[in-house]
Amino acid sequence: MTKIKMNIKPLDQWGVVQDLPLIISGPCSAETKEQVMATAKALVEKTPQVRVFRAGAWKPRTRPNSFEGIGNEALGWMQEVKAETGLLTSVEVANANHVYEALKHGIDILWVGARTTVNPFSVQEIANALKGVDIPVMVKNPINPDLQLWLGAIERIHQAGITRLGAIHRGFSSGQNGRFRNAPQWKLPIELKRLVPDLPMICDPSHICGNRDMLLEISQKALDLAMDGLMLESHPNPDEAWSDQLQQVTPVALAGILEDLNLRKPEGEDREPVDFLKLYRDEIDLIDLEILDTMSRRAKVIEKIAEYKKEHKMTILQVSRWDELLKDRLSLAKKLGLDPKFSKELYQQIHLMSIRIQTKVMNVDEEEIDLDLPQK
Ligand code: PEP
Ligand code: MN
Repeated sequence: MTKIKMNIKPLDQWGVVQDLPLIISGPCSAETKEQVMATAKALVEKTPQVRVFRAGAWKPRTRPNSFEGIGNEALGWMQEVKAETGLLTSVEVANANHVYEALKHGIDILWVGARTTVNPFSVQEIANALKGVDIPVMVKNPINPDLQLWLGAIERIHQAGITRLGAIHRGFSSGQNGRFRNAPQWKLPIELKRLVPDLPMICDPSHICGNRDMLLEISQKALDLAMDGLMLESHPNPDEAWSDQLQQVTPVALAGILEDLNLRKPEGEDREPVDFLKLYRDEIDLIDLEILDTMSRRAKVIEKIAEYKKEHKMTILQVSRWDELLKDRLSLAKKLGLDPKFSKELYQQIHLMSIRIQTKVMNVDEEEIDLDLPQK
């Protein structure tokens, strides 16, 4: 895809910060007025690098009957944060009404959440509500790794006339229980930046990591990849938070992370070029995780089959089933461009694993089975 020209103001001209990176922090959710004020005051005291306060007023929760946010009342608390601490305020908007309320309460920056970016109807509704308004807006990546969807949401907001426009990289849902809550898949934000070079890119390590331990590592990586800022969740008492407990840190802990970060290269020194080899290796790590997870799920299904066969006094090997399966898988593998010799050997091993699981579950001696493996 060729580069896309958009009328986007550089981040240091947003009237938000001059010194990059931009650091945004605050709780996942505004819970009580006390919690919001305590977080903001502690941030001002412990982390002078934080210029923008964040808090979710409306929370998109995966399951119903969880805490779904305080709503409009929380926006009043944000106004107090601004008045008392001088921090700018930011909030997630997911529909036109959220936009109107946030504007009415003088919120400084809006962001579109990952679950909203996936839906062009919702993004268009927000864009329509923003027509004629001059406010900074940041668009989180969609939960699925779809660059076009992310770009499309940014374009819709841009078409509404927003020029203080940025993107937030918060990782992508992979459906696997890997190292990350949301896999970073760094090449997507890098590709977006390549397509729209003027677009400021903020990283949200909190939602990528889903835990506190990796925040420093991911924040550093984002800065090394020349991202323009960080959004990190903080809470006075993370273990008691009403949402995202595991990933929030106290303002004191945040201060430690920010101090340990190598925020800027010395004056005049360019940032290191993007290490694509490292990015590809990260991708391989993720794929291997998927392979192993898939194999483990396959093994569990085989166990169920073995239990069923045991109960119904069936034999382990059903040769015709195996022949059919092998034929089907080898032809599929060929269509996917895999080397036929490799596919055959792979399925030989998979079949062996399946037999071993079944002999174990069914208490049969492995030696007694004629493994009937395909010829090399
Ligand atoms: C959040 O920022 O608290 C949030 C809900 O994030 P995301 O949209 O990235 O899941
Ligand atoms: Mn959160």
